[in-house]
Amino acid sequence: MSDAESPDDEFEPVQVFGDETEMDLRPGSDDCYKCSTCDTNCPVAEVDDDFPGPKFQGPEQWRLKRKEDRDIDDSVMKCSNCMRCDGACPSNVPLSQMHNTARGEYVDEQMDKLSREYVRNRILSNYRFFASIASKMPRVANFVAGLGVTTWLGEKVMGISGEREMPEFATQTFREWWEDRGGAQVSNPDKRVAYFHGCYSNYNTPEVGKSMVRVFEHFGYEVMVPPQRCSGTPMFANGMLDDARRAAETNVEELVAAIGEGADVVASCTSCSMSLRQEYPELFDIHGIEDLAAHTYEAVEYLRIHEDLDGALEDADADFPDLAYHAPCHARNQGLEGQAVEVADRIDGVEATDVGDSCSGISGTYGWKEENYDTSMKIGEEMFEHMEAADAETGLTECPTCAMQMEHGTGYDVRHTLELLDAAIVEE
Ligand code: SF4
Ligand code: SF4
Repeated sequence: MSDAESPDDEFEPVQVFGDETEMDLRPGSDDCYKCSTCDTNCPVAEVDDDFPGPKFQGPEQWRLKRKEDRDIDDSVMKCSNCMRCDGACPSNVPLSQMHNTARGEYVDEQMDKLSREYVRNRILSNYRFFASIASKMPRVANFVAGLGVTTWLGEKVMGISGEREMPEFATQTFREWWEDRGGAQVSNPDKRVAYFHGCYSNYNTPEVGKSMVRVFEHFGYEVMVPPQRCSGTPMFANGMLDDARRAAETNVEELVAAIGEGADVVASCTSCSMSLRQEYPELFDIHGIEDLAAHTYEAVEYLRIHEDLDGALEDADADFPDLAYHAPCHARNQGLEGQAVEVADRIDGVEATDVGDSCSGISGTYGWKEENYDTSMKIGEEMFEHMEAADAETGLTECPTCAMQMEHGTGYDVRHTLELLDAAIVEE
C-alpha cells in the first residue's frame, strides 16, 4: 500500500463551526457578493466611523471565523440590532441572524462577566424583571427614578446615560386592569386572538393594551391574554441568548397553547412581533416555534388582513391631535411602514405626516448606554427635524423605545396607532 492510500490520510472534513447541531450560517455567508449596500444603509456606520458595518459583522466575520484564526470582533456590541441591513441586502444574506449569533458567542466566551458593561447590559436586557418589582410600588419607583442622584449614579456606576428620562411606571399595569375588568368581554370560539402585550405596554403604557382590547372586541374577537415573558428583543441586542432562550421557551409554550385553542397571536409592539416571527426561529430550536412564527402578526396588520378596516373607518372621525408618524425600523422589516398613515388618512379630523425612513437612533437599549448616547442622537437628528417640520406637535409610532426617542428629541407627546383606532372606531 502506498503512502497515498494510507487510511491515516483519508480526507476528513474540518468541523469549522464546532457543534454540528448549531444553525449553519455558511450558505448565507457565501451568498454575499460584497456590494456593500448593507453598509450604506446602516445608521450606526453612517455616523460612527469606528463601526465597521454589517458586511464585516456578518459574512466577513463568518468567513474569518471559518479559518479558526479569529475571535469575534468586539465591535459587534456596537451594532444596535435595528435590522435595517436585513432589508437592504439584495442577496438575502441573514445579516441580523449572523450578528445575533456572533454577539451571543462574544458575550458567552469573551466578555468579562464581572465587567461594568456586562452587568449594565444584563440589567438593561432584563427590564421586565426590574419593572415587575417597580410596578409593585409605582409611585415610589417613579419618585426615586426622577431624583438627580439616581440619574447621576446610573451614569457613574452603571454607564446608563444620564441624559435620558427614566420611563414612568403606570399605577395599574395592563394585566391588573385586565383582571379587574374580568378578562374578555367577548366570547367567540371562531374569532380568537392571543395578545402579546410585551413589557412596556404592561408596565408603562397600559393605555396601548386597553385600546388593543377595545378595538379587537369591537370587531368581535375574543381576546386571550396568556402568561408571557419578555419577547427577547433587548436580550438579542445585548448578546444575552441564554436569557432570551428561557423567555422564548415560556412564550412559545403559552402562545402555541393559545394557537391550539384557535387563536392567532397579535402584538402591539413591532419589535415583539419581529422577535416572535423572525428572531425566534432564526436563533432557537424549540418545539412549536415555527407554528408560532406562522401565526404571529402585528395588531394593525392583523386587522388590515382579516377585517374591512377601510369600511370600519368610513365616516369615522376622532378627537385626536395631528400626528408626525415615525415607522420603526422593525416595522419596515415586516413591510408595515405605510399602514399607520393610511389608517390615519381615513379618519376625519386627523392629519398624519410620515416623517421619512430614517432610524430613530435609540434601538431599544442601544441609546440608553452612556457611550452610545451621542451617536444615538446623531442618528435621530433627521427624524427630529422632520417631526418639527411636520404640521403636528404629537408623534405616532408603534415602538415604545422609538417613542422615548421622539419625546426626548422633540418634547412631543407620542401616541400609538391602536389608540388612534380606538378613538376613531370605539369611542363615541
Ligand atoms: S448587502 Fe448583502 S450581498 Fe451586499 S455586501 Fe451586504 S451582505 Fe453582502
Ligand atoms: S442591525 Fe442596524 S446597526 Fe446593526 S449592522 Fe445592521 S444596520 Fe447596522
